[in-house]
Amino acid sequence: MLRVTRFVIFVLFSIRMLMCKKHREYIEEAIEMAADNAVNFTGGPFGAIIVKDGKVIGKGANQVTTSKDPTAHAEIVAIRDACKNTDHFKLEGAVIYASCEPCPMCLSAIYWARIEKIYYAAKSDDAAEAGFDDSFIYREINLPNEKRSIPAEKLPSQIATKPFKEWIRMENKIEY
Ligand SMILES: [Zn+2]
Repeated sequence: MLRVTRFVIFVLFSIRMLMCKKHREYIEEAIEMAADNAVNFTGGPFGAIIVKDGKVIGKGANQVTTSKDPTAHAEIVAIRDACKNTDHFKLEGAVIYASCEPCPMCLSAIYWARIEKIYYAAKSDDAAEAGFDDSFIYREINLPNEKRSIPAEKLPSQIATKPFKEWIRMENKIEY
C-alpha cells in the first residue's frame, strides 16, 4: 500500500514538474518574442502564445505601429492567428501565455475567445514604467458614461433595437 502511495506521489510530482517546465518554455518564448519585437522595431515589447492540448495553436507579437492598427496587441494578434489556424471563433480549452498582464481590451478579447486561463510574466505596473499605462482605462470602465474622458452619448432612435429583434427572430443562427 505504501509503495503504491509512493508511486502515485512520484507520478503526480513528475507530471507537475513537466507542467512547470512547459509553462516556463511557453512563457519564456512569449517574453523572447516581445523582446525581439522591441529590438527589431516591429512593434511594442509584447508577445503572446496560445496553447491547446499541449500544442501551440497561435502566436503573436505587438504590431500596432507596423500594421497601423491600435488593436494589434500581442494577445489579439495571437487570438487571430489561433482562430485562423483552428478555423474557429472560439478557443475553448486553450490557454494563453502573455509576456505581460493583458490590458482591458485584450482581457475582454480573451473572454470573448473563451480562453480558459491566462499565464503572464510582467505585471501591468512594469508596463506602466515603460510608458504603457493602461490603469486609466480600468479606472474609466468603473465610471458612469458621462464621467469618462471619452464621452459616450446615447442618441434617440426608433430603430435602436431593430438588429437585436432581427437576431432573436432568426433561426439557425451561429451563436457565439
Ligand atoms: Zn492589450
